[in-house]
Amino acid sequence: MSFSGKVKEELVKLENDVRHCQIAELAAILIYSGAVRTDDSGARMIEISSDAPLVASRCLTLLDKLQLVRQDTMSEVQRQNWLYLYKNDSSVIKKTLQIIKYNEGDDLVNPLVIKSLCCKRACLRGAFLSIGSMSNPEKGYHLEFVCSDAQQAKQLVETLLFYEIHAKVVARKKYQVVYLKESEEIVELLNVIGAHISLMNLENLRILKDMRNSINRKVNCETANISKTVNAAAKQIDDIQYIKEHYGFDNLADHLRQMAELRLEFPDATLKELGEYLTPKVGKSGVNHRLRKLGELAEKLRQE
Ligand SMILES: [Zn+2]
Repeated sequence: MSFSGKVKEELVKLENDVRHCQIAELAAILIYSGAVRTDDSGARMIEISSDAPLVASRCLTLLDKLQLVRQDTMSEVQRQNWLYLYKNDSSVIKKTLQIIKYNEGDDLVNPLVIKSLCCKRACLRGAFLSIGSMSNPEKGYHLEFVCSDAQQAKQLVETLLFYEIHAKVVARKKYQVVYLKESEEIVELLNVIGAHISLMNLENLRILKDMRNSINRKVNCETANISKTVNAAAKQIDDIQYIKEHYGFDNLADHLRQMAELRLEFPDATLKELGEYLTPKVGKSGVNHRLRKLGELAEKLRQE
C-alpha cells in the first residue's frame, strides 16, 4: 500500500469521541468530497463515490457516533450501499445537513463548526481523507489537497495557518491544489491530524535518507582523496623514471636514491608507509620533502 494509503488507513481507525469534533470531521468529509448534492428532482442527497471506501466507512462511523444512523442494524450489503440508502431517506439527510450547518450551495465547511482548534484539527483530518494525498517520502516530500475551487483552497490554507503550517496553492486543470513541500511541515500536518504512526515512519525514513546522503558525501570525498594520492604517486614515478634514464640513480645523493628506489618498488604505498620502509625511518613530511626534491630535479633535467 502507498504511504498515503497507510496514512488514511490510520486516520480511519482514529478515535474521535468528542461531539463537536465529530461534526467538524463529518462536515469536512461531506463538503470536501463533494458528497452533498441535489438530484434532478431537486431533492438533496448524500453520496460518496464507491472508489473511496475508506472515506465512506469513516463517514458512516461518524454518522453512527452522531446517532444519525445505526450501523449495528445494517446488514453487510446495506453497509456497503449505505449511500444509496440515504439517498432515499430524506429525514437522515436533513438532520445530517442540519448538524453540519450546511446552507444551500455551500462548498465551504461552515466556519461555525470549526471554531475551536480541536475542531479545525478534525476538519483537516476529514479534508486529508477526502482530497488529500502524499508522495512516497523515499522519492520526495509532497503533500497536497485537491480543492474544487479557490474559495475552498483559501479556507484550507487559512485553517493550516492556525498550526503555523504554510501551504501554497497552484492551479491544476480545473482544480486548486493546496500543497506542502517542506518535510517539517508535512510532519507537522501528520501530527495535527493525528497520524502519529505515519509520522514516526516518515521521521525514520528521513533519518535513513539523511544518513545515506552523509555516507555518500563521505564516500565521494574519500574517492576524491584516493585519486589525488594516486595521481601524485603516478607523477612521482614518472619523475623518478626520467631521472633514472637521463641522470642515473648513481649520481643521486644516498637519501634521494633510496627514496627513488623505494617509490618504484612500492608505487601504491602512502607517504607514511614509504617513510617506514626507509632506514633510518623518516616521517611523512621528510618523505614528502625528498620526493619534492626528486620532482624538482626531474623538472630541471627536462628543461635542459
Ligand atoms: Zn472540537
